Amino acid sequence: MTLDIARIRKDFPILEQKVYNKPLIYLDSAASSQKPVQVLKKEEQLHLEYYGNIHRGAHFLADKATNDYEAVRDQLKGFINAPAREQIIFTKGTTESINLVAFSFGEAFIKEGDEIIVSEMEHHANIVPWQMMAQRKGAKIRVLPFEDNGRLMIEKLNELINSKTKLIAVCQVANTLGTINPVKDIITKAHAKGVKVLVDGAQAINHLVVDVQDLDADFYVFSAHKMFGPNGVGVLYGRKELLDEMPPYQGGGEMISEVSFEGTTYNELPYKFEAGTPHITGVIAFGEAIRYLTDLGVEAVAEYEHQLLTYATEKLLEIPGMIIYGTQEQKSGVITFNIEGIHSFDISTMLDKMGIAVRSGRLCADTVMQHYGVSGTIRASFAVYNTLEEIDQFIAALKKLMVMLS
Ligand code: PMP
Repeated sequence: MTLDIARIRKDFPILEQKVYNKPLIYLDSAASSQKPVQVLKKEEQLHLEYYGNIHRGAHFLADKATNDYEAVRDQLKGFINAPAREQIIFTKGTTESINLVAFSFGEAFIKEGDEIIVSEMEHHANIVPWQMMAQRKGAKIRVLPFEDNGRLMIEKLNELINSKTKLIAVCQVANTLGTINPVKDIITKAHAKGVKVLVDGAQAINHLVVDVQDLDADFYVFSAHKMFGPNGVGVLYGRKELLDEMPPYQGGGEMISEVSFEGTTYNELPYKFEAGTPHITGVIAFGEAIRYLTDLGVEAVAEYEHQLLTYATEKLLEIPGMIIYGTQEQKSGVITFNIEGIHSFDISTMLDKMGIAVRSGRLCADTVMQHYGVSGTIRASFAVYNTLEEIDQFIAALKKLMVMLS
């Protein structure tokens, strides 16, 4: 299916504005995507018509909000092909989903001397929670490295996995390198040795069709704000047998069955892991984002983004001194780069003044920066609302600023 990009752009009014009197070119969707009006209108409608606290069953508004909230859980079950709705847990983002698993899986299954394998290309959110858990439990983190072209060295898993290995934490798509990792192979290798796998799907969920049963993932996590949804909402999918054994992450309302000073019993899944009033508006509006993405078609979106990636890569490589980090074939719409002799911060600041929004710095991936021995990079990331013309303008801006800086 061919996407009508001009039509799609109309759903994102934020893109129509000028910044510093220049048309905005938003190339930072890997940090957070913009939201279509359908999502924004849903938030407004909820507040105008039926906002109430959910699961209290107290009145008309609460009931209607509860139904819509729970309907999004069902939508997500379908979207990632989870076996059952209670395996979809709402969190405030990928970061909280990983912290939840690191804490609760750690409490249930990790003992002193155990090992966790984490890849070298992870976002800090998929490193630090494991380090904190390892410190608490006396466990050890081992690193699965990547090659200079951004390919994960999965053949090293054979050496890394041993009888103490309990879990592998790996991204399906890396936020810096754009690498699409063969997570299904990783999971097969891990399961053959009784090791569980958490897949960080934050950068994958809007680029790849995700089927958690086909992947056979033990945990799969992602954020709504990277897929046209509101910020402050995330998802944890987990294998039921594991979630059942794992203790609650936070205590409070909703996650209990009964409370007394003699002792408290916990609610069933998924509520056991959903303490307190959640982001009701965000989750309900997230439903519209899933609908929006599904209507466009994840595969069609990915194909279009790949065109943008290929075109931008070719054009960038024409620039003298261009260094692109992550150059292997299996890649999503992310280009992280530097230009020899120019500081990344200077480039991004000047691009900003030309109306072009990119990300710069360490990209929440210090271990990737360490791999290449750089203190910072620039990242341009594409979404379905970007155009080839915007890429031309981006390249022209880079050429112009190089002249100005040299
Ligand atoms: N993992 C990856 C691969 C990411 O790209 C991000 C967001 N940059 C995160 C985790 C953290 O997501 P969030 O900030 O939404 O919790």
